[in-house]
Amino acid sequence: MTRLALRGDLLDFTGLPDLGDVDSPAVRFRPDHWLLVEDGRIVAVQAEAPGEDWPREDRRGQLILPGFVDTHVHCPQLDVIASFGTTLLDWLQTYTFPAEQRFADPAVARVGAELFLDALLAHGTTSAVVFPTVHAVSADALFEAASVRGMRIITGKVLMDRHAPAGLRDDVAGAQRDCEAQIARWHGQGRNAFAVTVRFAVTSTPEQLAMAGGLLQRHEGLYMQTHVAENLDEVRWVQELFPQARSYLDVYHQHGLLNERSVLAHGIWLDDADRALLRDTGAHIAFCPSSNLFLGSGLFNWAEARAVGHGVSMATDVGGGTSLSMLRTLAEAYKVQALRGTRMTAWAGLHAATLGAAQALGLAHELGALEPGRLADLCVWDWASGPVAAHRDAVATGQVAPLPAQSLHARVFAWMTLADERNLSAAYVAGQARWQRPAPIPAKV
Ligand SMILES: [Zn+2]
Repeated sequence: MTRLALRGDLLDFTGLPDLGDVDSPAVRFRPDHWLLVEDGRIVAVQAEAPGEDWPREDRRGQLILPGFVDTHVHCPQLDVIASFGTTLLDWLQTYTFPAEQRFADPAVARVGAELFLDALLAHGTTSAVVFPTVHAVSADALFEAASVRGMRIITGKVLMDRHAPAGLRDDVAGAQRDCEAQIARWHGQGRNAFAVTVRFAVTSTPEQLAMAGGLLQRHEGLYMQTHVAENLDEVRWVQELFPQARSYLDVYHQHGLLNERSVLAHGIWLDDADRALLRDTGAHIAFCPSSNLFLGSGLFNWAEARAVGHGVSMATDVGGGTSLSMLRTLAEAYKVQALRGTRMTAWAGLHAATLGAAQALGLAHELGALEPGRLADLCVWDWASGPVAAHRDAVATGQVAPLPAQSLHARVFAWMTLADERNLSAAYVAGQARWQRPAPIPAKV
């Protein structure tokens, strides 16, 4: 049996915080507590030190959160992150499609998957819903690399049989064969899960969408991931291609692609009937604020999503997004909501990136909370990195006279807004340290 006792300031959630409630009862903060892990699983959380037989890791003065869950991110797009000057449709043509062609090569796919998953861990993300490319080898490489690291990864080869360059198109029969093979090989193996991965309505024929719906019907427990209503030109194009559909989202509904394991990125240009359809089918939106700002796509309306009652998780959408850091993404989410006239608390944001995502994916029994029975997917963070954040944290904790100490929300909000991957001290997956900050290089004498 392997054991580990971690000591630190534990922060997680027991429910859904209101978007604007800084005093939310759904927040659980347990400063200077011990988290006991046995064989990868949390077995207890307590204020008292455990017995002498427990190997200890003393992280006093550091913050411990469940590992972040990034519900929409593209593995091959590390090649094109931070590319200048386009909006969605020309960004795909100019940057993304050429980069994705490289992943037809199994060696490129393998190295790319390893680089990508290690980068997620180095940013404090321990689980993800991932787009590979149209090539089966790109999804196989992700499943293989995730298995080695013990990470919960949801992915599947991308479906696209039109409106894409020759090296990036499949066909209905070949795609079905590849998907069936991946389901048989990977779905439910360890922590891997297969997602029927429709790039978006534009790049699949109605026949391919019908095939995708058939996969979901035949195989219980599969996920579905795609994009929806990201950009107005895209929405218009989908209307032209599917004139019989009531809306862009309805295209997916008509092909049997919406259920409680469907993750749809963006969802900016939806109406209330779409939001009700998401709620009624149990599908949810992955909110990608840094991508939406970077590509100028629009401002996601989280308040309306809450009013209608469909789920929302948080995602980087790298390479449309500009960082794999969920903390930077949350800082952008706050700004997007501010432009919408909504104030998003740190609680609402951090919940959507941890327990909220786990619940939306039907994985709350496994991850997303610091709770006995869950796998120990968690990250240790510094409260501050650099002099500005250190000063700001000192103000929040009442160490700068004569300013009084601030509320817990004020401290955590400043942390969420100022922190990024430089604050990460260690990332654990199922109790194993999979990433640790390198020790500083000693100065020469
Ligand atoms: Zn995307």
